[in-house]
Amino acid sequence: MNEYLDPTGEQFSPEEIDIEKTLRPLSFDDFTGQEQVLENLKVFVKAANLREEALDHTLFHGPPGLGKTTLAHILANELSVGIKVTSGPVLDKPGDLAGLLTNLEERDVLFIDEIHRLSPVVEEYLYSAMEDYKIDIMIESGPNARTVQITLNPFTLIGATTRSGLLTSPMRARFGISSRLQYYTTELLSTIVERSAQILKVPITMEAAIEIAGRSRGTPRIANALLRRVRDFAQIKGDGRIDIKIARFGLEALHVDAHGLDEMDNKILATIIDKFKGGPVGITTLATAVSESAETIEEVYEPFLIQQGFIVRTPRGREVTELAYKHLGKARGGIQGG
Ligand code: ADP
Repeated sequence: MNEYLDPTGEQFSPEEIDIEKTLRPLSFDDFTGQEQVLENLKVFVKAANLREEALDHTLFHGPPGLGKTTLAHILANELSVGIKVTSGPVLDKPGDLAGLLTNLEERDVLFIDEIHRLSPVVEEYLYSAMEDYKIDIMIESGPNARTVQITLNPFTLIGATTRSGLLTSPMRARFGISSRLQYYTTELLSTIVERSAQILKVPITMEAAIEIAGRSRGTPRIANALLRRVRDFAQIKGDGRIDIKIARFGLEALHVDAHGLDEMDNKILATIIDKFKGGPVGITTLATAVSESAETIEEVYEPFLIQQGFIVRTPRGREVTELAYKHLGKARGGIQGG
């Protein structure tokens, strides 16, 4: 993927990861958008604070870069508790999890990113911890080995996943709160861009903020990444300020098109049209045709193309819409046009 449009942040350098942290909202008031989700969370947090109880286990799902990790930190702040952060693939064996769980203080948050990637044994181990704050641990070894049950401090598990479909039903059932994050409108993203610009101390016009926002695939992480790159152009090619001219110049130079589509998006659309008569086509077949993993297509490209109305999902596979033909200047039937 065009590195500037990668919503996962996996291609970020350590410096960029540090900058991203400084741009992270710390409280409900700082956080823009996801109104419905926020409204509910505020009520649950208030109630938990009033009763001095741990917040119910909470699941955030939705495409990468929309604020799941940010919200987990905000919840810990608003609950005035500590947070421990880990992720599904990192937790190899139940012992890794036991170490984290036994170190949690009362009402603390344990954040598990990519929770759909927990191994089945670790997942099972988590069940009793979530349910009644109890875990079994093995003590001693050899002939003296035995398990003892220990009681944990009440805590809140916050899970994040980009693939809620891959979560097992017993896991899903253990979350009292479950929120789906949506892509952001250009208007909301431009507010985020303006806020980030202020933190980075770079002057930006409203028009330029909207231009960056409109090409950010509805994703705050991308909006912030584009802002940082455009800031470089402003410093080197301009006078340090970001206006519409320098924003457009920078975005063109980064090969970010007006819809925020990158080469792979366009390749996916063109392939469905040219090789599969507009669809329907199954995800595995499509993945092979464009030489990308089915997982990445399902997780990163497809949700945005669906949200933008370029693709629809049918029981028989993916189909492109009229909008995709128009966007690529192709006529139905695969004949090159416009
Ligand atoms: P996810 O966990 O869903 O992949 P993150 O929570 O890590 O996404 O968010 C990525 C970056 O985007 C964060 O560093 C933060 O700066 C920014 N961000 C996300 N949501 C918002 C928001 N609603 N308002 C402002 N910035 C946001």
